[in-house]
Amino acid sequence: NISEKWNDVDVYFSTKLHTTDPVMDLILKTNSEAGLPAIDVAPNQGKFLYLLAKLKGAKNILEIGTLGGYSTVWLGRALPDDGRLITLEYNSKHAKVAEENIRKAGLANKIEVIVGPALDTLPTLKEKGISTFDFIFIDADKPNNPQYLKWALELSGPGTVIIGDNVVRKGHVIDADSEDESVQGVRQFIDLLSDESRIDSTAIQTVGSKGYDGFVLGIVKNI
Ligand code: SAM
Repeated sequence: NISEKWNDVDVYFSTKLHTTDPVMDLILKTNSEAGLPAIDVAPNQGKFLYLLAKLKGAKNILEIGTLGGYSTVWLGRALPDDGRLITLEYNSKHAKVAEENIRKAGLANKIEVIVGPALDTLPTLKEKGISTFDFIFIDADKPNNPQYLKWALELSGPGTVIIGDNVVRKGHVIDADSEDESVQGVRQFIDLLSDESRIDSTAIQTVGSKGYDGFVLGIVKNI
C-alpha cells in the first residue's frame, strides 16, 4: 500500500531528522484529546515551515488558520527574541486549545491568537500597528483563499514570503468543472497568482503521512 509507505518514510525521516520533540508531541496529543480534527501540518512539514521562516529571518509572521496551534508553534520557534506572530482562527474552541499549547511551548509572549472569521479580523491588523508581515502562512478555509491572497498582498512588503497550504486537493485542482468549493477556491487563488506580477511563485506536490497534497510558495517582488 503506497500511502502506508509514504507514512513509514515520513516516520523514518522525522525520527532521523528530529522533526518532532516532547513539546510538539504534546500539542498533537492535546489536540486529539480535545477532539480537534487531525488536519495540522505533518511534523516534517512543520519543521519545513520553521526552516523557511528561519531562512527568511522572519520577525513578523501572520498565520491564517490556527487549529490547535501546531504549525503556529513551529513558526513561533523560528522567531528572534523581538519577533512576533499573529494567528487568526474562526473557531473559539480551537483558539482556546491553541492558546494553551502556545503557553506550554513558552511562546505566549510572542504569539497572539485572534478569534473570529479571518475576513473580519484581517482588516483590524493595521489598527494594531502592524502593516507589514515578512512571512504569511495561509491555511484556513480554502474557498476564501482568493481573498486571503489579496489580504496577504495588502499586508506584504518586498520580500514577504507567502505560503498557501493544501493546494493539490488530491489532484482535483486541475478539474476546472469541480463542484467542490475548496477546489474552486484554490483554482481562483492560482489564477490570481498567475495574473499577479508582484509575486514570484511556484507550487510543489507532496506525499507523506498526510497523504497526497502540496503547497504554494511565493515571494513578493521588489517593486
Ligand atoms: N495551520 C494549522 C496547523 O497546521 O496546525 C491547521 C489549520 S486547519 C487546516 C484550518 C483552520 O482554519 C481550522 O482550525 C478552522 O477552524 C479555521 N478556519 C476555518 N474557516 C476560517 C475562517 N473563515 N477564519 C479563520 N479561521 C478559519
